[in-house]
Amino acid sequence: MRVPSPHFQRSDRRPGPGPAGSSPDLTALPDLVHGRSRAGPVRSERPVYVDLLPPCNSACPAGENIQAWLAEVQAGEHERAWRALVADNPFAAIHGRVCYHPCESNCNRASLDSAVAIHAVERFLGDLALEQGWRFDPPPIRSGKREGDQPGASAPGIVPNPLRPS
Ligand code: SF4
Repeated sequence: MRVPSPHFQRSDRRPGPGPAGSSPDLTALPDLVHGRSRAGPVRSERPVYVDLLPPCNSACPAGENIQAWLAEVQAGEHERAWRALVADNPFAAIHGRVCYHPCESNCNRASLDSAVAIHAVERFLGDLALEQGWRFDPPPIRSGKREGDQPGASAPGIVPNPLRPS
C-alpha cells in the first residue's frame, strides 16, 4: 500500500495516482485548507503603532528634542538647529560642556558602532550662536488680561465671531 506524502492529502472526489497504469487521473491536488473551512491567510494579530520618545530625547534631563536639532545640523541649517535646541534649553554652550550627557549613554547607535557625540554638537551650536550673535526670539507680548476677559471671548470651544466689533 502506498503511503501519501505528509504534504498532500488526497481529495475525496478525485482519486489520487495509484500504481502505474491503474488510474488515468492526474496527481491529486494538495489540501491547502488542512481541514478548515476557509483557505488563505487569516489575520489574527495586528501591529500596534506606539508613539515613544527616542531614547536620547527621553534620557535628556532638559528634555531637548535632540533628533530634531541633529537633523537640522545634518542639513546644514545651524541657526535653525540652535533655535530648535534653545526652545527647550537656553544653555546650549554650557550644557554642551558640563552635562554628563546621558543622551549618549542611551543612544541606539552605541550598539552599532559608537554613540553620536550629541554634547559636542550641542556645544558647537552654543558657541556658534555666541560667535554669530544669534538672539532668542522675543517672548510674546501679553495683554495682562485673562483669556476670558478678552472682548469676544466666550466659553471654551466656542470660536469668537471675527466680525464682531471689539
Ligand atoms: S548633553 Fe545636552 S542633549 Fe545630552 S543629555 Fe545633556 S543637555 Fe541633554
